[in-house]
Amino acid sequence: MDATLNSLKKDYSRRDFIKTNVSAGTAAMIGMNSFNTVFAGRSTNNGTPAILGGKPQITQHSWPSWPIWNPATDEKKLLEVMRSGVWSRSKLATEFEEKWARLIGSKRSLAVVNGTNALNTSLAQLEIGWGDEVLVTPFTFIASVSCIVLNGAIPVFVDIDPDTFQMDPDKIEEKITPNTRAIMAVHIYGLPCDMERIMQIAEKHDLLVVEDACQAWLAEINGKKVGTFGNAGCFSFQNSKNMPMGEGGAIVSDDDEFMDRCYSYHNYGNPHGSLVGQESAGTMMIGTKLRISEYQAAIGLVQLERLQEETKKRNENAAYLRSLIEPIPGIKPYRLYENVTQAAFHLFPFRYIKEEFKGLSRSKFVEALQAEGVPCGRGYRELNKMPFLKNAFESKYFRKFYPKERLDYAKYAEENNCPLNEKLCNEEVVRIPQNVLLGSKSDMKNIADAFEKTFLNAENIKNRG
Ligand SMILES: *Cc1c(COP(=O)(O)O)cnc(C)c1O
Repeated sequence: MDATLNSLKKDYSRRDFIKTNVSAGTAAMIGMNSFNTVFAGRSTNNGTPAILGGKPQITQHSWPSWPIWNPATDEKKLLEVMRSGVWSRSKLATEFEEKWARLIGSKRSLAVVNGTNALNTSLAQLEIGWGDEVLVTPFTFIASVSCIVLNGAIPVFVDIDPDTFQMDPDKIEEKITPNTRAIMAVHIYGLPCDMERIMQIAEKHDLLVVEDACQAWLAEINGKKVGTFGNAGCFSFQNSKNMPMGEGGAIVSDDDEFMDRCYSYHNYGNPHGSLVGQESAGTMMIGTKLRISEYQAAIGLVQLERLQEETKKRNENAAYLRSLIEPIPGIKPYRLYENVTQAAFHLFPFRYIKEEFKGLSRSKFVEALQAEGVPCGRGYRELNKMPFLKNAFESKYFRKFYPKERLDYAKYAEENNCPLNEKLCNEEVVRIPQNVLLGSKSDMKNIADAFEKTFLNAENIKNRG
């Protein structure tokens, strides 16, 4: 066994020791001094935390900055586009769509300007709108919910499972009313939500399902890619995303008629595919323009070459980092549902329980980790309490289309209270960005050491930091 493996092995047993002791409830008994004894063999953990003036745990690392762009391999296609003068949607956009559909395992794909408009378009073309309620998680990016309101429907929030960070499938059915039309299934952080159960519930209650897979490129459940379970799957290719184009998005579906409508809608409402028969009559439907350009497609095609390999690496590093930090008291990493065969890891999330860190606040904990060289931050804010909802309820449009009793905002706020999400957002969630997961095993090890250093010095950081 080589030296690295040996030290890894030692490391595991040391961590097992912490876990065993802590889970046996002996943490208080053995106290901080004993923890220090446990760690005593490791010079890394005895140092002063960087936030208190010590040397940062991570002074160099091998993860890339984001996005990745290799001039030697990546610029050829882009230059060809620029020199051709064909910049508006043409062959490369179509090529990208075909490749995306094949990779995701969907019959069709339509590239659009961004993920937000992939969602807006999908809801519009599934005719989800005025009068409808759409079930959605409160723990997500604004676009998962604004698409519902934009189409005139009312979002109904289903509280999360704090272990998985996803909409809790056990809480869905109690939120279904005669007005419920659809479930917006968000795979937040690129960790698949419990799609198989969500689909069972949707079938039972005859609901449409739109998947917000804007953080979940290539994530899979039992080998099937997310985005292909529901009536439509939506992706984002924005700059920070694992599949970056700068701006960009896609809709996938097996439903030709729906995809033709989406295409038509994204191209001024002009006829497309099955809608072409009526071409001579002119524009078919009320549409808009959401086409991607050829240079975006060229960038997308280049990024696509790397996506599978990168996804594999993120999964390996995430599992490794998870195993290293999971034994630390007060660190509760994500749990994947049992049927998940691959996650996307747009972010690596965990819950921070400050009571286990001598009451060190989450923001100080994050600052301490950042000082050690670990990129991290807090997660989402409570979406179900943001002012855009009340403002929508009070808007002229909502008042025109909804009876008064459905626009009682105080009642709505009460019914859409999500206590577990509230705790997650305001106190617990911390996440590490995806590009870190493209680093080396020793980067992951260093990150875990920074966690331990912070754990061991929590009291000091709280008092002096
Ligand atoms: C990024 C994102 C979107 C929107 O995508 P854009 O391309 O930025 O418009 C929607 N939902 C989720 C969960 C996202 O992370």
